[in-house]
Amino acid sequence: MSKQILLPYEDRITQWYNVLPDIPNGLQPPLDPENNQPMAPEKLLAIFPGALLEQEMSPNPWIDIPQAVQDIFAIWRPSPLVRATFLEKALGTKAKIYFKNESVSPSGSHKTNSSVPQAYYNQQAGIHRLATETGAGQWGSALSFATQKFGMECMVYMVKISFDQKPYRKAMMHTFGAEVVASPSKLTPTGQSILAKDPNSPGSLGIAISEALEDTVSHPGTNYALGSVLNHVCLHQTIIGLEAKKQLAMVGDYPDVVIGCCGGGSNFAGIANPFVPDKLNGKKIRLLGVEPASCPSMTRGVYAYDFGDLSKRTPMMQMYTLGHDFIPPGIHAGGLRYHGMSPIVSALYREKVIEVMALHQLECFEAGVLFAKTEGIIPAPESCHAIRAAIMEATKDLNEPKTILFNLSGHGLLDLASYEQYHAGALSNYEYPAEAIAEATKRLPKIC
Ligand SMILES: *Cc1c(COP(=O)(O)O)cnc(C)c1O
Repeated sequence: MSKQILLPYEDRITQWYNVLPDIPNGLQPPLDPENNQPMAPEKLLAIFPGALLEQEMSPNPWIDIPQAVQDIFAIWRPSPLVRATFLEKALGTKAKIYFKNESVSPSGSHKTNSSVPQAYYNQQAGIHRLATETGAGQWGSALSFATQKFGMECMVYMVKISFDQKPYRKAMMHTFGAEVVASPSKLTPTGQSILAKDPNSPGSLGIAISEALEDTVSHPGTNYALGSVLNHVCLHQTIIGLEAKKQLAMVGDYPDVVIGCCGGGSNFAGIANPFVPDKLNGKKIRLLGVEPASCPSMTRGVYAYDFGDLSKRTPMMQMYTLGHDFIPPGIHAGGLRYHGMSPIVSALYREKVIEVMALHQLECFEAGVLFAKTEGIIPAPESCHAIRAAIMEATKDLNEPKTILFNLSGHGLLDLASYEQYHAGALSNYEYPAEAIAEATKRLPKIC
């Protein structure tokens, strides 16, 4: 059997799978912080195009992927499904381990699966510029690539500490033609007021989101774009699981367990959601999300309405959260450092359709190094969480012939500095103290 299972272009996925109508007991609507009532769509139209808002609440199980988006996807999709034979051998397991390789995309992660359709729908709505925030730089790179494909400008507010520590992500965004500033910046009222108080502020995702939103409303023809959490982002990512399902069928296989790492939840939703209808119809399959022990939204957070950002500018969403003013520690899987979890993934966890586990960063880097040596791909620190969980599944009982599928959400070639720190023994584990979580969740908005 060949190691890579390649889906012929003719068999490509042409519709996304929308899990919304299939979620038992459904989702609660986002609420307007001004009156605690469901958010009026007109307000959201000030920052998002109508097509994306429709997808955000669509009752249709299948949504067509526009031809112009499929044409750009053809650069790297269908992405390979790979049998991790060398890893299996190193572990001495009878389990079959497959991974979906999303690292082959232009920005090196799954995020281009959503940045391309988001840029497309905005361009169709007459928007010529997108503003966004980026933490570790992966979303900024993905949106920079997508916007120029549709002749649009891109403005990225990059969290100051990453801006300084990850110069190559910045270079990637510049290469794709985006403008990048360190956040807090002098360009927005929020940035100015924070700099006035603390000129050396390292910034945060919450501050950068506020800056991108202020930029959006003060520039005509500009919209805002978000790379995770929202329903339409999870929808776009389902192309991962839909392709994987077809590829497994090509070799007569079906997974016993599907695994993905969880930051805002989009790549996990992408690989797992297409298997949700099978599970609800009684099929024996486990869907396992993996979050960092240092930012454990689902395993230790509460299920409540909360804001998406620190300055309470976003609608309130019902989700597992550690509280909007939770400050995640500086672990190296930057893409997993978010206080909340996608409402879709949260609801699937609430209904026990999915399982979740939390892992520490050292055991994840260890797994990532073994994966690099055996399979030849240096994984993103985020993806190492999925790899660790896959290894745990494969080694629970070495003689159990099960089939494991995990998502390799990205490569780590721009995260080599953290690998160096790991090798030098300079990284440590961090378990968030229970008191700090209890404290942060006390400040959740009160909904009557
Ligand atoms: C952004 C990112 C993540 C986390 O985001 P999700 O929305 O949870 O998928 C995981 N892996 C990589 C490589 C990322 O860039």
